[in-house]
Amino acid sequence: MLPREAFHAKPLNFHEIMDATGINLQAVKRRIANAAAQCGRNQENIGLIAVSKSFGTDAVTSAYAQGQRAFGESYVQEAIDKVSVLAHLGLIWHYMGPIQSNKTRAIAAHFAWVHSVDRLRIAERLSSARSASLPPLQICLQVNIGNEITKSGVAPGDALALARAILTLPKLNLRGLMAIPPATQDKARQRHYFAQLRTLKEQLTASGITLDTLSMGMSDDFEAAIMEGATLVRVGSAIFGPRPTSVGIRSKI
Ligand SMILES: *Cc1c(COP(=O)(O)O)cnc(C)c1O
Repeated sequence: MLPREAFHAKPLNFHEIMDATGINLQAVKRRIANAAAQCGRNQENIGLIAVSKSFGTDAVTSAYAQGQRAFGESYVQEAIDKVSVLAHLGLIWHYMGPIQSNKTRAIAAHFAWVHSVDRLRIAERLSSARSASLPPLQICLQVNIGNEITKSGVAPGDALALARAILTLPKLNLRGLMAIPPATQDKARQRHYFAQLRTLKEQLTASGITLDTLSMGMSDDFEAAIMEGATLVRVGSAIFGPRPTSVGIRSKI
């Protein structure tokens, strides 16, 4: 009788298994590299956040196996379950969904970054809820770039005042601006919106507010965002596939 081992091929190392998520992730990274090359930017200055909302921990661990460390979530309850189960992996979690006052404590406890701050009351609550033993929360102001009535985000004209107020909060570190512009397939229009966010960041910088982050670009438009200076792109469906529950997060134009 053959020894038992003879029936088994050499077991695959976890990191050698590339499933659909891994393949998609590599493809997205190539697209980021190509877009960076096209506009003469260093790829190292463009961070990729894998937006895992509505996908389970197995999807996250698949991306983790391919080296991904930054993940994005938009629904608090779903997120804190995932963050807790995967705590041993040392991932960097970014919150980018709507923020209700009664969820600020949970967000401050489970995330490293919050991209969707658009009013002072929420910023104050996040700062006071952030534990003294944790580093400050990294904050982006969400800006309503298309001035859409249905969209959250501070109006561009109110961003400077909000930024100044946030700078006084001890447990927040204001890093930059985030936007979800109106969805459009027109590349020129995509760039037009992202350019508005870049210009707003330049205006704030000119007013003495140092920001190093432009969080912009999703599956359908991250190349245009990179052309306009994105430093963080937030990519979900291009990595994990279509979301099982299609919760519309932006209007169609
Ligand atoms: C869901 C979501 C994303 C990712 O969207 P995709 O189109 O799937 O890439 C990015 N940013 C925010 C704020 C989101 O809610």
